[in-house]
Amino acid sequence: MALTIMGMILETFPVGLLACNCTVLGDQQAHEAIVIDPGDEVSRIHRRLTQLGLNLKQILVTHAHIDHIGGALKLKRLTGAPILLNENDLPLLKMMEEQAEWIGVPTPETAPPDESLTDGLIVGLDSSKAKVLHTPGHTQGSVCLHFQSLKLLVAGDTLFAGSIGRTDLPGGNFDQIIDSIHSRLLALPDETKVLPGHGPATTIGEERVRNPFLRTM
Ligand SMILES: [Zn+2]
Repeated sequence: MALTIMGMILETFPVGLLACNCTVLGDQQAHEAIVIDPGDEVSRIHRRLTQLGLNLKQILVTHAHIDHIGGALKLKRLTGAPILLNENDLPLLKMMEEQAEWIGVPTPETAPPDESLTDGLIVGLDSSKAKVLHTPGHTQGSVCLHFQSLKLLVAGDTLFAGSIGRTDLPGGNFDQIIDSIHSRLLALPDETKVLPGHGPATTIGEERVRNPFLRTM
């Protein structure tokens, strides 16, 4: 998916074996970009940034599952951009070898993040800022990024179209993810567009009404 909203370039495309949605948000006037969840296919991501003439400012990772963070260090080495990840996912980051075994791929090289994506932190571009919403449950360090000016939420694996993130992996907690979604995500306006970590885009309004996991208990 590629579109231009309010002068910003927004491109989301699946990368890697598990088709993690990687998002590039760029400001062509300032020649700056951020990349969210560079799980794999780093040369493709880097090529796109070069084609668009964008300098990478930040690498934002919604959580430390291998399919979302696997390419982050490679992308940092190519661009010099810092990696941001919530500190509560550091235990998962240290389990990269085990995570690689789960899906049968070589272990990607990783490094500790340069900064923690703590709740309330403002990240992104000067022209399009995002607020970090800490939404634990899929993992303890899962975050969503809310770009208020773009009416956009990048949700990682917390919320999907018609579903929610799995909670059976280490650090997962079903009650917590339901609480995170109700208290943080459903508090956003209905028209907020949602880009999940896998699969098609949706909106908060759509999920409020249709998502079978979010019916009031
Ligand atoms: Zn995940």
